[in-house]
Parts: sequence; structure tokens; C-alpha cells
Amino acid sequence: MIITVDAPDIYRPGIDDVVRVFYPGCTIKTGNPDIGADIKLNIMVDVQQPYLLARGQLKSEAGESGHLEQSQLKHGINERHEARRLARLVVFRLLEKFTHGQPSPWGIMTGIRPAKVVHRLLDEGFTASEVKAKLADEFAVTPDKAELVTGIALFQRHYLADEPSCSHKVGVYIGIPFCPSRCLYCSFPAYPRDKHRQWLAPFVDALLREIEATGRALRSNPLSVSLSCIYIGGGTPTCLEPAQLDAVLASANRHLRTADTTEFTVEGGRPETLTAEIIGICQAAGVDRLSINPQTMQNRTLQAVGRQHTVSDVVLAMERARTAGFATINMDVIAGLPGETVKDMRDTMEQITVLRPENLSLHTLAVKKASRLRWEVSKQPMPSATETAAMMEIARHRAQMQGMLPYYMYRQKNTLGNQENIGYTLPGHECLYNIMTIEESHTVLGLGAGAGSKYLRPDGVYINQFNPKEPWLYIKRLDEVIKKKETGLDEATKKV
Ligand code: SF4
Repeated sequence: MIITVDAPDIYRPGIDDVVRVFYPGCTIKTGNPDIGADIKLNIMVDVQQPYLLARGQLKSEAGESGHLEQSQLKHGINERHEARRLARLVVFRLLEKFTHGQPSPWGIMTGIRPAKVVHRLLDEGFTASEVKAKLADEFAVTPDKAELVTGIALFQRHYLADEPSCSHKVGVYIGIPFCPSRCLYCSFPAYPRDKHRQWLAPFVDALLREIEATGRALRSNPLSVSLSCIYIGGGTPTCLEPAQLDAVLASANRHLRTADTTEFTVEGGRPETLTAEIIGICQAAGVDRLSINPQTMQNRTLQAVGRQHTVSDVVLAMERARTAGFATINMDVIAGLPGETVKDMRDTMEQITVLRPENLSLHTLAVKKASRLRWEVSKQPMPSATETAAMMEIARHRAQMQGMLPYYMYRQKNTLGNQENIGYTLPGHECLYNIMTIEESHTVLGLGAGAGSKYLRPDGVYINQFNPKEPWLYIKRLDEVIKKKETGLDEATKKV
């Protein structure tokens, strides 16, 4: 499928993403009326006082055509921003009419963080009902998704208060880039542990140096930065040798944690790594949030996607964690795993309900470029968009029956059925780190291989910086990594 788009460059950002919502994998060419194409789109935006007006025209190879206009009062708006939105909306509505369907419940919200739009509208003084109406009219979002994202944004408001100290409150993420094996769908820095065993000890040594240097930078910052939360993820941190994990946790406690740190998470990406010894180490170090990630409670799927554990491992890890007394336990579940059905999701959620985690992170399967799945997807029995949406609905219903509320969400490219990822929580157990990092509301320092630091400067500009994802490069470039972190932190806390 070849689609040409003829639109001024200034309005072009985002149009291609909207086209791909309807035609994933299509070839999009910049509009030239002479190029042969299955569909030709022509988009113009201009001012006709007092309106900003977007006009679109669609012509297909088969001779079908369509026209559409969308307008917006020009007064008091960010003109460039709104012109781009109108251009995307015209493309969406034209293709919706042409294809007789709406392939994404998120309309033209193709970005990662839909809640940010809601926060902006709430900041501009719109009520929750007005926001939902705007999402439907101006972003083509379905009513249920508008309800979902508005509810989440309202929940988050008090965490994201625009207080002057916002830039002084930071979170820390520590990435451990090893796993027992690599899952079929994985795109994270996760090197099979046994194959890369020689890098474990030097990586941990380097990480301990970075933790110590970061602690020094935080303490010496003139604005007395306060560290709210520590999150150790990866990879699977709990697949380190017990002494190595113990050293990382002890170092985080010694150099990073302060009286202001109210949350300390360790991700047990693979339940079979949560031995009694590892759980004891986490508990003794004061970890208060543990993530036990089954992804599914179907043994045949676990095997098919390359996870080397069973449902019994999940149940055992949960029993150990409960006995140890962690305040909050999270479980991750994925909707849309190869070969899974709606019945499987119903069964998975029934089993999860029995285990009663305080947090549930519900993901939609995304076919990512860096995953094995990307190359095998045509051979895999993938659930349809409708089935995936039904799975999400079952999980949502179950979470709500348990008294959970959705409290953060984000979207990814290439998810089945254009669905989203949602964090659910029992009241009082919400993960601050997830809110801070997903909503980009605070500075989050990323330590370890592949970890990203997000610096929120006082002028509102957000700067991303990544550590090398390969453990050997991370070790080699450690001095540079530490230097960049010190500079980034200074920039983020500088007075404007
Ligand atoms: S457990 Fe997570 S990080 Fe590890 S391979 Fe699987 S998806 Fe990747």
C-alpha cells in the first residue's frame, strides 16, 4: 500500500502516525501528484478570520474521493499546535470515512502520554466534562477512553501539583540488564544471564560506583534535592547473585535513600528468581514494593514466549512475598500474547484475583523493533484487535471488582488493537515512581546499563539522556556517564 501525503512541512508532524493507525506498514511518500499511489491525501491549513481552517481531500486509485473541513476559533490558541491537531484530525476523519471504521479508540492521540493533554486542558480551566467532550470532538477519542484518561489525570493531580519544589523532588531508576532468558516480545536491555555471566561482577562494580557518585551529586546539590523514590528494574534485578543484589541494595540505602524516600521498588521480572534468600535480602534492605510479573497464568503461553517459569513459581513467589510482609505487591499482565484467547485472560485474571496484589500493571502486547517477535509475528497465532480489546476489558473489570483504580497509563507504537498500558492500584498503594516517570513531571535519574535519565529543568524543558545499554560499554564509559549525570542534575536544578 502506497499513500502520498501532500501537506506543508510545518503541519506534517503526526500526520504519518495517523495514516499508520489505518494502514500499519504502509509506505508513505511526500505528496507529488505524479507519483502513483493507492491513496492520495492533500491537506491545507489556513486562516479565515476568526477561524483556523483545515481542509483535506482524499483520492483513491479506484476513483473514490472525499473532502473534509475542520475549524477552530483562532482566539487565544497556540496557532501552530492547533493547526497540526486540525491537520491530523482531518486526515483521521477522511480515512475513517473512507475505510468505514475507526481502528483506534485513541483517535489522533498517537503519542505516548495521552494524560498530558488532559492535564494541559485542566490547567487551562476546562472542567472534567468539558475535557471529555473535547477529547471526543477534537481528538476523535472514544467516550470510554476519554473517561479513562480523564479519570487518571484527575487522580494524579495532587502528585503533579505545580509547586516550586517540583524540580527539587527526584526519583531514581536503577537498570540491571540481565534476565534468565529473553522473552519473545522483549525489547529491553536484557542479556541472558548465563551467556553473559562474565559481565555480572564488573557490571555490579561499575553500578556501585555510579550509585555512590549519584548520591554525592544529590547531597552536594545547592538546592537540597529530595529523593522520593527508588525503582530497581531491568532486566530482572533478582537474577543477580544474592551477594550482588545485596550489595546494590545496600549501596542504594547508603548513598541514595534519605528520610524523604517513601518508596523502594524491586522488580522481580521472573518469579522463579524470587527465592527465599532473594526475598529475604529485599526485605532486610527495606524494599517496600515488590513486582512479581507473571504476564499470564497459562503455562503453555509462558513456555511459548520463552519465559522459563511456571504458574506454580508465581504462586510460590507470592506466598513468600506475603510472608515477608511487603506493603505493596505489583503484578504485570500482558493482553494479546501469542496463542492466547479471551478465555485465557479470564482465567489469568481469576487466578490473579485470588493472589490479591495491591497493584496490577496491565500491558497490551506491542510488537517492537528490537524484539524477536517482530521477525516471527507472521508465524505466530496473534489475537485479533477485537479479542485484545475484550481481554483489556476483562482485566479492567476484574481490577475494578477488587477495588482498584486506574492511576497511570501510556501508549506504545504497534500495540495490538491500538490499546494502552494501564497501572491499577488499591487506594493508598499507588507507585509514585510510575506517575513521575510516565507523566514526566519530575526529574528521574537513570543508573545502570540502558537506563534513561529524564531531567526536568525549571523552565519546563525536558531533557532525556541514556546510559549505554550494553554492559561492557556501560563499564567502559562509566566516567563519562557519571560526569553527564552530574551536569544534568545541575542543569535540572539551576535557577532560571
Ligand atoms: S523478563 Fe522483562 S526484561 Fe526480561 S526478557 Fe522478559 S520482557 Fe525482557
